[in-house]
Amino acid sequence: QLTFEPGEIQTAIEELHHKYRCLQVGAIANYIPELAKMNPDWFSICVVTADGQCFSVGDSQQLFTIQSISKVFVYGLALEDRGRDRVLATVGVEPTGDAFNAIILDERSQRPYNPMVNAGAIATTSLIQGKGATERLNRMLAMFERYIGHESFIDMPTFMSERTTGHRNRAMAHLMLNFGMIDEKIDEALDLYFQQCSLMVNCLDLAVMAATLANCGINPLNKVQAVSSCYIRDILSVMYTCGMYNFAGEWAYKVGLPAKSGVSGGLIVVVPRRMGIAVFSPLLDERGNSVRGVKVCEELSQRFGLHLFES
Ligand code: GLU
Repeated sequence: QLTFEPGEIQTAIEELHHKYRCLQVGAIANYIPELAKMNPDWFSICVVTADGQCFSVGDSQQLFTIQSISKVFVYGLALEDRGRDRVLATVGVEPTGDAFNAIILDERSQRPYNPMVNAGAIATTSLIQGKGATERLNRMLAMFERYIGHESFIDMPTFMSERTTGHRNRAMAHLMLNFGMIDEKIDEALDLYFQQCSLMVNCLDLAVMAATLANCGINPLNKVQAVSSCYIRDILSVMYTCGMYNFAGEWAYKVGLPAKSGVSGGLIVVVPRRMGIAVFSPLLDERGNSVRGVKVCEELSQRFGLHLFES
């Protein structure tokens, strides 16, 4: 139930875009050239409601790689492919205050802590079903297409850079193989992980994807069921507790909504049963979250009383 008029959303995002457009705080990720060449001025805010209304401002058509935001959707696919118990046996759901790329597993269970840190995301990706690499990739692309509503593609230069420089991710995969948490096909799993990170999206696509999660797994624009509604609670729970790198606790406290950010400057927020919000601005703070993205969402949450525990 929206407690405000749709027109108010457009006005609010235009005001926030205007307010933060000139904020030049933060840095662009530069661990690969494809990310480093992003324009620091790119900035868009998009909202898609659960009943399919779209609002956008700024560079909403600018393509960029989805990066860590992909982890949310691949987690959903793994749950559908393997079921809750099997996924939980491989990847925990415990938040960690460590960095997203920490080489660390839960000592007791030897599982990665959660599906939003890199180790957990790689283990999650390793669970995706398919006969061989091509079928697994095609199943993943089909899954993204259900959420986005149209076909998307992998950016080859980003994929190749991620793959040739991803030594940390490779090390984590080997560590998990050592503990029997993933199978021997680690190169296949790593390639699939680097491919999912290299999927091209724009800010409006991300808002539609977030709105699909808000709308019980049904894309509100074309009514396609992107993920079984029974897994929405799993996905939103890990987003809520682990989605914003090691800022997740403060985010939950201040904004109070499930979210996921990525190193290219994208950020999605889910307002269950009401709307999906996406912000794109590549300047990141020291934890890896979009500076403008965090500010915009803090204000939107406050202005419209979106915090889940608002009373
Ligand atoms: N491709 C990146 C990595 O695995 C994803 C980083 C991110 O968006 O957090 O290191």
